[in-house]
Amino acid sequence: MFSKILIANRGEIACRVMTTARRMGIRTVAVYSDADANSRHVAMADEAVRIGPAAASESYLRSDRIVAAVHATGADAVHPGYGFLSENDAFAQTLADAKVTFIGPPPSAIRAMGSKSEAKKLMERAKVPLVPGYHGDQQQPDLLLKEANRIGYPVLIKASAGGGGKGMRVVTQRDEFIAALASCQREAKASFGDDHVLIEKYVQRPRHIEIQVFADRHGNAVNLFERDCSVQRRHQKIIEEAPAPGMTAARRRAMGDAAVAAAKAVGYEGAGTVEFIADQAGEFFFMEMNTRLQVEHPVTEMITGYDLVEWQLRVAAGEALTDMIPDLQEQLSIRGHSFEARIYAENPDKGFLPATGRILHLAQPAAVEFRRNHDDNGFHDPSPVRIDAGVRAGDPITPHYDPMIAKLIVWGEDRTHALARIQAALTDFHIVGVANNVDFLSRLVANDAFARGDVHTGLIEQERERLFPDSDGDEPQLPATRAMLAFACARVLADETRRAAADPWDSAHGWRLNTTYRRTITLNSAATVHDVVIEYARDGYVFHYEGASTALAFTATAGSGMSIRFGEHTLTADVVRAGDELHVFHNGRHRVLALADIIAQSAAAEVETGRLTAPMPGKLIAIHAASGTRVERGTPLLVMEAMKMEHTIVAPSDGVVSEVLYAVGDQVVEGAELVRFAAAAASG
Ligand code: ADP
Ligand code: ADP
Ligand code: MG
Repeated sequence: MFSKILIANRGEIACRVMTTARRMGIRTVAVYSDADANSRHVAMADEAVRIGPAAASESYLRSDRIVAAVHATGADAVHPGYGFLSENDAFAQTLADAKVTFIGPPPSAIRAMGSKSEAKKLMERAKVPLVPGYHGDQQQPDLLLKEANRIGYPVLIKASAGGGGKGMRVVTQRDEFIAALASCQREAKASFGDDHVLIEKYVQRPRHIEIQVFADRHGNAVNLFERDCSVQRRHQKIIEEAPAPGMTAARRRAMGDAAVAAAKAVGYEGAGTVEFIADQAGEFFFMEMNTRLQVEHPVTEMITGYDLVEWQLRVAAGEALTDMIPDLQEQLSIRGHSFEARIYAENPDKGFLPATGRILHLAQPAAVEFRRNHDDNGFHDPSPVRIDAGVRAGDPITPHYDPMIAKLIVWGEDRTHALARIQAALTDFHIVGVANNVDFLSRLVANDAFARGDVHTGLIEQERERLFPDSDGDEPQLPATRAMLAFACARVLADETRRAAADPWDSAHGWRLNTTYRRTITLNSAATVHDVVIEYARDGYVFHYEGASTALAFTATAGSGMSIRFGEHTLTADVVRAGDELHVFHNGRHRVLALADIIAQSAAAEVETGRLTAPMPGKLIAIHAASGTRVERGTPLLVMEAMKMEHTIVAPSDGVVSEVLYAVGDQVVEGAELVRFAAAAASG
């Protein structure tokens, strides 16, 4: 076995590979670009080597620098993860030439499967079923058009060198073909440096079902059953599951056999995935083979109980599959059901555009780290919730790499139990600071069609109206809206109370007890402005909103946790303040409320009462307008200091300062009346 391996990747997959290596007693080397110097995968490794600037083309795609890092650290082998150089046969060859083990298939197998057209020719010979189409060498537009006409519309034009959902065009009728071809070729040339295309029958409402295969250099090959990866956006997977809903034993065997035949046809070694497209009748066709560990491999680990990275390392070190499973295929069976949801830094409401930012707050469902866990019967007790993450709280999400930041994987005795678990786990996944798809995923796993297992690659489009509700649902009369606002106000009040308690000058805290003080807190949600009036009562607060009043008390628990007593209900939530934004995570929803400027707001609310009060506890450091001064709206009257910040209190309208009630240097509590103010009568 290897004593030290280098992981030529970043993010969650680098961390995931290191977890297994560590468990096996293998030391790890990370590589990193300047953008990743302080990232999680670097912190996890035994040692790490800088390989260049942020751009992937200058770092993670530089095989020369990675090979230099291998030599500098004395690593015996390289795990390429997925993406980057994982399917680059020249990289695998360079390592072989340098007598370093590439943890993956031989370069010849990568090459054979690298072009979708060439792979289809090979598969045709191996009698693996293909989507009807054209995958020849001729590329003249008129010939391709003729082929498309023969296949029958709709057709899909695909870049032979394509990947990651790029370089594909659906053509629904003959007169659109030539233009679509040109645009597909342009994209293929730009993304993959190769404009060779193939044409396939476009399968309607298809399912993406893939088979995990594993082979060793001793002639053994098995399949570890299927994964259903039909739930996609922009031809990219976001939720995967195993086994596939509705799969029959006979079809599973047929697909498994076809996948193993595909692997054998190219002399495969290690972990690989054969992707099929299945039509509504269940007929399946070869699409492509990914010659690496797949993003969604954990769902297979969950239902089989095996650690596929461990197998990769052992097979690459020369062990036989029979060392792990003496009875090979016979020894493999499926237990339970598993889902994976990919957590992306992206904006589902804006066409799933990638997002960047810094993760200010990260709370994750309780998880047990994945470990191989077989009992004497060869069965296992997988941990029900697993998180493969590449980030920690405080980490930046940069624009340089893929926006996938974590994967949430669950297991249950059957699909229904696994579904309940992923719904609950998503509820506990809280990210603040960067736009992300957690809420969207929550809606997706709660969707009826998805819950029924009625999945196909057009599911998100089909369910558009339900998945993208056009209002934010914040109806004033809804209990959920009121609770959300109560939480936001409670966070504001709790933070102020905490600040006041930390302040040694805060001896006058009971000062306001005999007065009623009201303030307005204005919170803006996506579509609505909410004005909440908070009344300070003797034993708590009263929450006034849209004509109804509710008693409010709260306790702040560890971190961002809060518990409120709201009328007759006690509710808990995670409430995070980030600048002027309040993030309320309650009952499976993440709502963002923007706090309108407190000072301006309390000033505005107090115009009618003729009192100006302290919006927060603090010290009076300047008085700009003495009693009797006539001022215009916006004139600075007083300056307070709190939390090392100055806040200027301005005239809420034109008027006269009737009386200033404190002197410079005085410490005042929140809500203390500072100035009596007479607003001028509105003219005109
Ligand atoms: P990539 O290399 O980008 O992964 P694939 O060939 O695996 O490309 O296709 C990606 C996705 O595109 C599939 O998962 C499926 O949703 C869709 N797709 C591919 N081929 C077809 C087809 N013939 N008919 C319908 N959809 C297809
Ligand atoms: P899968 O079928 O496993 O989803 P993809 O072809 O979509 O395979 O790619 C796997 C993962 O690697 C995806 O998250 C994809 O965005 C990422 N990826 C693909 N190519 C690159 C690349 N050049 N650099 C970084 N990440 C990449
Ligand atoms: Mg694919």
